[in-house]
Amino acid sequence: MNKNFIRNILLEYEKKRDIAEKELLYRKSQVYELVPRLKEIDDKIARIGIDLSRVILTNPENYEEEVRTIKERTDKLKQEKAILLTENNIPLNFLELNYSCSHCNDTGFNKSGQKCKCFKQKLIDRAYSMSNISHSLKNENFQTFNIEIFSNEKFEDENLTPKENMLNILSVSEGFVNNFDENNGENLLFYGTTGLGKTFLCNCIAKALLDKGKIVVYQTAFKILEILEEYKFSREKTPELKMSYELLFDCDLLIIDDLGTELTNTFTNIEIFNIINNRIVQNKKTLVSTNLDLIDIADTYSHRVSSRIFGKFTLLEFYGPDLRWESNTNRNY
Ligand SMILES: [Zn+2]
Repeated sequence: MNKNFIRNILLEYEKKRDIAEKELLYRKSQVYELVPRLKEIDDKIARIGIDLSRVILTNPENYEEEVRTIKERTDKLKQEKAILLTENNIPLNFLELNYSCSHCNDTGFNKSGQKCKCFKQKLIDRAYSMSNISHSLKNENFQTFNIEIFSNEKFEDENLTPKENMLNILSVSEGFVNNFDENNGENLLFYGTTGLGKTFLCNCIAKALLDKGKIVVYQTAFKILEILEEYKFSREKTPELKMSYELLFDCDLLIIDDLGTELTNTFTNIEIFNIINNRIVQNKKTLVSTNLDLIDIADTYSHRVSSRIFGKFTLLEFYGPDLRWESNTNRNY
């Protein structure tokens, strides 16, 4: 998980607490103006707190009696406060800090120092928004993957039927997700013509990993080059641009969709190679999806890029009749 994310989330918590405190001050000033006696009560309660610690410090042997009377005084004041609030139609918790998470009081950590569930949720949400995958794609996942739409008839001169082939790809993909934390250097290359489920399966993998709290970035090769060019050639680098650029290298899984649709030139070759290579060196995983076949890839990219891709990736070919024309599916695969 990227350190910047965590720092940003902690800053958000800090801001939230600041806002909660400012809002409380504002509410107090309003209420005190309306019912001045409430300010007197609050001041008294605050002073009693100081008294209490003084009593315990100066009379450590025999403070119980005094503490009891002090406590009685506080209770009385609190009671009076509650009555005044009720009489003036002010909610009882109006003069308390309003944290949005009562488990951690917007600190992000619970009492035992563990990440609060709101913190974990934020990490997942952040990962989702960074991934470029919208929440609507949540319904493209391993559970909704319908293997039955793949033909079980022999296809051209392939050994496996499209369905058998897809079962194999599915099991490799699920293994990829399940063993994602293992340092096994596994990368995937999905290749084959459009309409055979590559995008759907990319989404399944992305979703499963996002739900595990991983940072997944899903970009087309075209968009990646745009980010790289902008980063290289712009003098003023906005924080967003910096983050998009760094994420290409730092995210847990980079999905490069549609490799081969971008214009390839020397710049492209070097940059695509640079990202893929950098990630391999850092033990970060990459999933590439392309409509090119292996010969096209070798022709389109320099030897360095193609040998990297072929050497360090599990190559999975999608083949079969185009699913988008099948009557039993209207989904855009
Ligand atoms: Zn919380």
